[in-house]
This record gives sequence, C-alpha cells and structure tokens, in this order.
Amino acid sequence: MNKKQRRWRNRIVIALVLFAAIFAITELLPLDTWLDSHTAAVWLEFALFLVPYLVAGYDVLWKAVRNIGHGQVFDENFLMSIATVGAFAMVLFPDTDPHMAEGAAVMLFYQVGELFQSYAVGKSRQSISSMMDIAPDYANIEVDGALQQVDPEEVAVGDVIVVKPGERVPIDGTVIEGASQLDTAALTGESVPRYVEVGAEVVSGCINMTGVLRVRTTKPFGESTVSRILELVENASSKKAHTESFITRFARYYTPIVTGAALAIAVIPPLAGMGAWSDWILRGLTFLVVSCPCALVISVPLSFFGGIGGASKLGILVKGSNYLELLAQTETVVFDKTGTLTNGTFSVVAVHAEADVDPDLVLSIAAHAEAYSDHPIALSVKEAYRGTIDQQRIREAREESGHGVRALVDERTVLVGNDKLMRANGVGYHDCKLEGTILHVSLDGEYIGHIVIADMVKEDAAEALRSLHEAGVTKTVMLTGDRETVAAAVAKAVGVDEYRAQLLPQGKVEAVEALMSDAAKRDPKAKLAFVGDGINDAPVLTRADVGIAMGAMGSDAAIEAADIVLMDDKPSNIARAMRIARKTMRIVRQNIVFAIGVKVVILVLAALGIANMWLAVFGDVGVAVLAILNAMRCMNVKGM
Ligand code: ADP
Ligand code: MG
Repeated sequence: MNKKQRRWRNRIVIALVLFAAIFAITELLPLDTWLDSHTAAVWLEFALFLVPYLVAGYDVLWKAVRNIGHGQVFDENFLMSIATVGAFAMVLFPDTDPHMAEGAAVMLFYQVGELFQSYAVGKSRQSISSMMDIAPDYANIEVDGALQQVDPEEVAVGDVIVVKPGERVPIDGTVIEGASQLDTAALTGESVPRYVEVGAEVVSGCINMTGVLRVRTTKPFGESTVSRILELVENASSKKAHTESFITRFARYYTPIVTGAALAIAVIPPLAGMGAWSDWILRGLTFLVVSCPCALVISVPLSFFGGIGGASKLGILVKGSNYLELLAQTETVVFDKTGTLTNGTFSVVAVHAEADVDPDLVLSIAAHAEAYSDHPIALSVKEAYRGTIDQQRIREAREESGHGVRALVDERTVLVGNDKLMRANGVGYHDCKLEGTILHVSLDGEYIGHIVIADMVKEDAAEALRSLHEAGVTKTVMLTGDRETVAAAVAKAVGVDEYRAQLLPQGKVEAVEALMSDAAKRDPKAKLAFVGDGINDAPVLTRADVGIAMGAMGSDAAIEAADIVLMDDKPSNIARAMRIARKTMRIVRQNIVFAIGVKVVILVLAALGIANMWLAVFGDVGVAVLAILNAMRCMNVKGM
C-alpha cells in the first residue's frame, strides 16, 4: 500500500468504527423516551450518522460536484452521491422509517470497494514494473584512471563503460575486456546465466554477476534495449481491447439510462396514485445504488492489465490488451524459418570451389560482400572467415531481400546468394548434393563456387508446435526463402502441418494473406499469428492479425513491427502467451456475465421493492470485490 492508500484506509477504518458505535447507540438506547420526542430522536440520529458518512465520503461528494462542473455528470461518484444524499433526505418523510444508517453504510462500503480496487490496480502495475525494474540509474566511465558514475544518457556511442559485478548493464555494447556471467532474467524470465567474453554483445538490463567488464557502447541509452522495452510497456495500456472499449461505451450510455429509470421509478407510480411517495423514492434510490457499474468498469481493464503483467513475468511483452484478445482467437500460426524455428546461427558445412579457384578466396570474397549485412547467413559467413575484413576494399554493398547480397569488392562485382540471384543475373551455377542452404558466389559474372551452410532446429521447436496444437491452434505453417530440401527437412523435424519454400519477402506477405482469407472462410473470427525474427519479414509481422517477434535481444525492426515480443527466442513461449490470452479472455467474460447478471437481478428486485438498500449495498460492493479478485487471477502465470 502506498501512502495515499494508507491514509484512505485509516479514514475508512475511523468511519467504520464511528458507524458501528453510532449504530449500536441508536439501536440499543431508548433515545425516543430519553428525548421524549420521536422527531428529536430521528434528527439526533441524522446528525450522528452524518459524521461517519462525511468522514468516509466527503471526497466522493466533492468529486461528484466537481465533475458536474466539468460537464461529466453521470459517473459513479454522482450515482453514489445522489443515492446516499437521497437516503439521508428520507428524514423529510416523517411517516417512514429513517434510512440514515443505510446512507452512511452505502458510502462506507463503496469506499471499501474503491480502496480495494486501487490496491489491486497498484498490485498488478507493480508486477509489471518489477519486471520492468531494469532501468539502470548510472553508468561507470573511467576518467583519469578513476571510475566515475554518470547519467547513462550522457554516455556517447563508442564510449567505454565499466560494469562491475552486481551491477546492471546500462547500455547496449560490445565487451572489449573481461569475461563474466550475465543474468538475463529481467529480460527473458529465464535464469540460466549467459557467459560473455571479449567480442560478445551485451544488452542493457542484464545483471553482471561475476567479472568486471569493459564495454564499448554501440547504442545511445535512449535506443538501448532497456529504454525500448520500458517505452513499449508504458504504451501497452493505451491500446484497448474491443471488450474494454465496449465497457467504456457501455458505461457512458448505461449511467444516464439507469439514472432516468430511477427517477421514473421514484416519480411516476406515486403520481399515478400507486402508493406513498416515500416508498417509491426509496425504491428509486435503491435502484441507483445497485446500478453502479463499478465491477465492470474496473475489473475488465484490470484483467487485461493482469494478463499483460503476468505475460511480462515470463519475458513475453504484449504491446496492448487488444493483442491478448486477438491471440485468444488465433487458430493459425505461421512461422518464419530462419531464426524462428531454427537458431539462425549457421555453420559452414563445406566450401566447394570451382576448378582452379582457391576455396579460401571463395570464402574471403563472400565474407567481404556480406560485410554490411546483418542477416544470420551473413553473420555465419563472416564468422567462418578467419581473416580480417578490409572495409576499404568494399563498395556499393547492397542486400537483395530473399536473394542474397551484391557488392563491389576490389572494384569487381560479387554476388552471394541463392539460385534465384544467380539466375536473375545470368550466372551459370550448379547445384550441390549436400543437405543445407547453398550460397553461390560469383565474381564479375563468373561462377567461382558455393558455400554450404546448415542451421540447427531450436531445441524447443518441436515441443512448441505440439503445445500450440494443445492450446487450440488448428493449423501451423512454415514459410521460408530457403531451398525446398532444407524446408522439408526442418518442417519434418519440428512437425509443422504445412510449409512453403523459396519465398521472397513479398511472397511471404501473399502467403499470409491467402491463409488469412482461407481461415476467414471457415470462421470469420479466426485470427492468424505470424512469428518471425524481424529480419526482412517486418512487412509480414505488420500484415498478420498478431505479429510475434523473436529475438528481441537484437532486432530493432522486430520490436517496432511486432505486437508481441518474445524476449528469449523460444517458440514455446507462443503457446504460453496463448494460454495466458485465453485465460484472460475467459476471466473477462466471466466478470461481464457475473456482474451484469447480478446487477440485473438486484435491479429488478429493487424496482419491485423487494430488495432493500442493504442488499443493494452488499450486491454492489460484493460483486465488485469478487470481480476484482477474479481479475487478479490473470496475473498468476505459474505453470502456464
Ligand atoms: P528465411 O525465410 O528462412 O528467413 P530469408 O527470406 O531471410 O530466409 O532468405 C531467403 C534466402 O535468401 C536464404 O535462404 C538465402 O538463400 C538468401 N539470402 C538472404 N539473405 C542472404 C545473405 N545475406 N547472403 C546470402 N544469401 C542470402
Ligand atoms: Mg528470416
């Protein structure tokens, strides 16, 4: 509880104690006989109950008045104020029993419910921010041999920072000295430490556990992983689910309608001579108390908030509650191959040079041409090439999506890529019997050989696909720009239902669109999710109903384009995200049905004069509290 909530709670407790004392006094003591007048006794009670009423509810009354000033008439403060003031005003009808106690009680329990809500919201916000408690406060830089703490914002790209054991890495960069274990739990929810040494990339937000690291920063603080994640999570609540905006709209029409109905109940029957004014006014007031839609208005967003918070504990960042809703309806999941179902770290299996060509030349030329590419293929070629890459020798390096790369190396045109690239440029190439992805290399239009590389299927990929089917996905598809044989092998190994090979990035978009319209034919509500690593599949991530990005620990494009980001690259987290989404939607639906159902019943009873104000109070607060407790279950993701 924060300070404001503690003060609020204390105020409610004081009001409750006062209320109980006064209730006991007025019930037990024969005030009538002591004062020798029923009227005087009633007015004394009135004055007494006014005290706990005002202690508990002065802020509600004040907000109601102020909101009317702002033109927002029909909110819950208004409903509560009218109902309770009305209950007190019943004192003006001397022939009915007094209702001050109910008036004060309504206000009291309303406040108990409100406090409870505020606590629940704070709690789920906390769970998100504790996961997000990754923002570093400072960075160490070395000045004249001594360490100095500076604001991470002040560190320029290329500066060297020092990260001591126990400290958080403040900015993304490359290790230039030292070796250590990094705890990435804050980013991935995964507590297996990662070993880093000179040359390794480190991302901000990880905790350095064992050794001192010297890191050359590669990004400014504002673009480092931590900052991007924080920004993403802060924006998450602004994207509202359909269900959520439905509730907001619902409340907007609902409140004036019930206020009107309450007024009608209070006024029309007595005018028609159907009974005493006091009786019907009381029914109208009771109706108002019950009608307060608090349970709905608060529990629905709270459920989504809890779902997003729970997911973030597992390293699954959901950019808005609407994506939870869409994910819950997802029936088709489409995967990119490289970096998503496979590790994306290729190893070179063989270098086959043409006759009279030195295999080392093939590798060296290819590595130079790939110098500027971040594609997993390029990274592995550079890794396999042991020599240094001389940037001076390279000009006009260009990536051709889904084909390969083209560059001028030593003023000679180099092409590295698949058969499509060779054909498009009229280079005569020949195929290879080895299993794997083939990179053909040509120099000035002359074929000089090919490099065979192979990737490993991710450890949990097969399990991920199984659990997706268990989570209710009916169809899984793999898309790839790679060769048919490689695609078939991977598809079989992981167990996807279908695959399409040799696709260009544009072809992936078309394939996804076709699958979407296919699915829509069967069930218009069925949604499609695409999972990719963001490297040349950003358009598909955007096009799918739900774009899920792997490899948040690297690719900027993925974080931008995706709706859901998996902080560790594990495909098995997709099924987890889906189960969280389904559970959240189930709880939301339960709350809507439950809250509206109970409300309608009590409203009818109130209009008929069967429900008294006590029942109304407990109906309202009880439903709200139960709905909130139910909503908080969304946060619990243990064993998902
Ligand atoms: P995937 O669909 O498996 O993610 P991409 O669409 O990124 O694959 O690439 C498809 C194909 O294009 C690769 O299998 C490779 O043959 C070729 N390719 C793409 N980028 C490069 C590159 N940088 N160097 C060489 N070949 C490349
Ligand atoms: Mg790819």
